[in-house]
Amino acid sequence: MIDLAVIADHLDSLLGTETIPDYPGALNGVQLANRGAIDRVAAAVDVSRRVVEEAARIGANLLLVHHGMFWGGAQRLTGVAYERLRQLFTHNIAVYSSHLPLDAHPTFGNNVLLAHTLALEPTGGFARYRTLDIGVRGHCDRDTAELFDRVASFAQANGGSARSTEIPGARRSRRWGICTGAGASSETILEAQALELDTLIVGEGPHHTAVAADDLGIVIMYAGHYATETLGVRALAAHLTETFGIPSTFIAAPTGL
Ligand SMILES: [Zn+2]
Repeated sequence: MIDLAVIADHLDSLLGTETIPDYPGALNGVQLANRGAIDRVAAAVDVSRRVVEEAARIGANLLLVHHGMFWGGAQRLTGVAYERLRQLFTHNIAVYSSHLPLDAHPTFGNNVLLAHTLALEPTGGFARYRTLDIGVRGHCDRDTAELFDRVASFAQANGGSARSTEIPGARRSRRWGICTGAGASSETILEAQALELDTLIVGEGPHHTAVAADDLGIVIMYAGHYATETLGVRALAAHLTETFGIPSTFIAAPTGL
């Protein structure tokens, strides 16, 4: 049994929770305490009814997530929000959330781990948010269609599906950028253009990003918001097991996006 405060301190300093900028609704760190100590960790991308029920079923008393409970800001604790908290209280489950600190982390980050999964080696940052590069970029010499096959298998293995803008035959990818989750936006396209990237791998993005990228000769691969953000929490949970000797389980709850 490990005290929640000990685990939280460890995670906060590992992830730079206090110093990494983020959206106010992210509320990184402990979002909900529990009574007593932690002896089983569950990790998931989102806090949802399915996830909380499964965490309770397996007897976890710490739920580690990427998207926390307070995205919408202040909210009434009624209906679904009340029920979720009631379940967490009833089963004595604490919640620790890490959004951008976990996207950007050099070892446990969603972005660096997605690069490694696709056999890409990052050499720099991409997708700037205030003072921080959330994503990664690098060089390669890969057949673009082959790279997309790899992205598609990854998405499928995580309960999703990948899509891509038009890939001309025999096209090669040489300068790539990755931004997991929400991923493609007008800003990331401009940044990709300035960095002369030819291939972007993202979680998702609005339709206009596909039009803009195609005009600029950039291929965007949309690997799924959910799928691209399974890697960080999974790695962090494994790290807690290794560090504190407490078992951990990843709860898969694909959203379809
Ligand atoms: Zn996200």
